[in-house]
Amino acid sequence: MNTQRPRCVVCGSEITTKHPFEASRETPHSPTMIVDLYQQGRINDAQSTANHAAAKAEAVHERLASQERRIERLALHCQAMWEMLRERAQFTDEEFVNKVLEIDLRDGRTDGRMGVQISDCPNCKQKTNSRRATCVICGVELPRDHVFQV
Ligand SMILES: [Zn+2]
Repeated sequence: MNTQRPRCVVCGSEITTKHPFEASRETPHSPTMIVDLYQQGRINDAQSTANHAAAKAEAVHERLASQERRIERLALHCQAMWEMLRERAQFTDEEFVNKVLEIDLRDGRTDGRMGVQISDCPNCKQKTNSRRATCVICGVELPRDHVFQV
């Protein structure tokens, strides 16, 4: 049977209380103090984790706000281009809407997106998709179906 008294994890001195339940909170290096230190450590860890999560959420919020500003600017530019084209080429809004639908349907779905199209690389003939600028196999620059494809 181990008769050694427990030692303080902070200073290494022997803990003199005979029973953990006899220890008062004021006794230095008592088992209760060790538990308190352990719990404070856990609280500090939790606070650190919460601070990290808050900073990460703030960074995501800033990126989202930046993306929203970019989309607004792109929408503004698209509207300006369309209005110039409509005036010069005398297209109608209906023709524009029909063209948007036709492009949307090129990937077989009407989802409001251009989508990804699978095609063969003109050099190595391996399958590639329309999101890539170059072939993943041979590296040759791939032709783009859409100038504005993202
Ligand atoms: Zn290739």
